[in-house]
Amino acid sequence: MHTIYAPWRKEYFGSQESSCVFCAISSAPDSDTQNRVFYRDDFCFGVMNRFPYTPGHFMLIPHAHCDSPELLDSKTWAHIQNLSQKAFGILYEYGASGINMGMNVKKAGGAGIPEHIHIHFVPRYVGDTNFMTSVANARTYGVDFDEVFETISRLANKHLKER
Ligand SMILES: [Zn+2]
Repeated sequence: MHTIYAPWRKEYFGSQESSCVFCAISSAPDSDTQNRVFYRDDFCFGVMNRFPYTPGHFMLIPHAHCDSPELLDSKTWAHIQNLSQKAFGILYEYGASGINMGMNVKKAGGAGIPEHIHIHFVPRYVGDTNFMTSVANARTYGVDFDEVFETISRLANKHLKER
């Protein structure tokens, strides 16, 4: 049986505290395409959100496993912030009219995967709140995930690697 998004399954089936889904993705560059990783360098990687708030929703994630930003070494943090700035170009070119960038830290902060910090980039489109409410349950099926991934990958290659 061919299973895509294998690491994400841990969200549902995992009971082992030690196995972190983002560490699993981080350490498996050979599976980048199936994990929807569109970018990686020595400090971090960029991956599509498996449960996108809007089409194009992705995350930048440090390879280092930690649950709060102050625990990250400052060089890695600075690198990710620099990349975050460039990431806006990806989503504007993708067609976003606005963007929500943010981080939910720890369970009480609303993090879906609280053990490993990640920065969300959510493209917003005029009127998308109506869109969201009306198709809330269908939204992940309403877009071609492969196509979104390919487009974001192409744009990341252009925006994140320049300079
Ligand atoms: Zn981790």
